[in-house]
Amino acid sequence: MSDDSIDGRESILLGVGVGGQIRSTFLACPWCNDTWTHIDVVDVLSASGSSFEITASGEDETSRTTARALPNARSGGRRHSVVLHIDCEMCPGGEISFLQHKGQTQVELSPVPDHE
Ligand SMILES: [Zn+2]
Repeated sequence: MSDDSIDGRESILLGVGVGGQIRSTFLACPWCNDTWTHIDVVDVLSASGSSFEITASGEDETSRTTARALPNARSGGRRHSVVLHIDCEMCPGGEISFLQHKGQTQVELSPVPDHE
């Protein structure tokens, strides 16, 4: 296994520094580069199996969040990982995973299985 993959999934390493400044921009879909993206579901995965899925929905006064245990989730690695589910209006989207890996945070991009 190379340092650029975990469990055989493709990964990338980002090295973008902003000099401590707060910046705001739009998230572009990693697969089609469109900015009509939504993140409503986040998974927090542990190595021991105590993993949760958090979902946000609705708008304004009707917005709500829910959390549910993921008893059969994949391992978060040796430590833990956070997975953002990217819903894209222009393509099937996928997942961006942040894995705590050997003292660094590794970023993986995983398109949904039926993604071309
Ligand atoms: Zn897309």
